[in-house]
Amino acid sequence: MPNGFVFLLAFLFGASVGSFVNVCIYRLPRRLSIVKPPSHCPYCGANLSVVDLVPLLSYLWLLGKCRHCKTPISPRYFVVELLTALSFLACFERFKFSIEGVLIAASLSALLVIAFVDWEFFLVPDEAVWALGIFGFTRYLVSNPDLQSISICLGGAFLSGFIIWFIGVLGKLIFRKEAMGFGDVKIAAAVGAHLGATWLLLPFFLFSVLIGAIMGLAIALLRSRSLTGYIPFGPALALSAGIVFLSPPSVINFVLRLYQIPTG
Ligand SMILES: [Zn+2]
Repeated sequence: MPNGFVFLLAFLFGASVGSFVNVCIYRLPRRLSIVKPPSHCPYCGANLSVVDLVPLLSYLWLLGKCRHCKTPISPRYFVVELLTALSFLACFERFKFSIEGVLIAASLSALLVIAFVDWEFFLVPDEAVWALGIFGFTRYLVSNPDLQSISICLGGAFLSGFIIWFIGVLGKLIFRKEAMGFGDVKIAAAVGAHLGATWLLLPFFLFSVLIGAIMGLAIALLRSRSLTGYIPFGPALALSAGIVFLSPPSVINFVLRLYQIPTG
């Protein structure tokens, strides 16, 4: 198969998974089943047919409106499908056809669910966090099913969750208000199950803090939410995890060398 065609397939498959990611983002925080009923317009209740459900394209040819009641559909549907498609493309580029690639693509989808739900609802869906953690655990089981690698995985989950919990406790002491929610601890633990009790946790936390700071600044500049208001940290953790999952070793090693950490 020509390479371009395989990339196109990865993109299209990702876009279809993106439709499911959208279903999860809408239904998980509302405690609705993610398998039934079939997709329908939340405004007029009309069931969506095959032509309304083509990833990316339906949104464009319906001009972002429900075909039945003409209520505008959130651009989030299009954005999430595009992001999922691009993340599958990046996964394929980085990992080719491999179990690791499939597990990371699935993990990136779980991270998208986490990021968008936390951003909109200030809550972290347990189902997506468990999925993310289990995908991480499976990566260790598949590559090295021995006690050592399992303890690196579980140790990573514990350590990563603990670090965020500890930062939260410190933040509460210093700023006298809730700095981290327990949702952030759960996300960090699930990401830690991927990265293990290793130095990979360092770039993960560095990028999270950096992205969180940029997000806070952007929000303050755009004045979409007041600076004193609560800004969810979950999206920053999720984006950072995605970057670390997809980064080639050269990038990670560069960050570690900045901190004088010997790389393997
Ligand atoms: Zn409608």
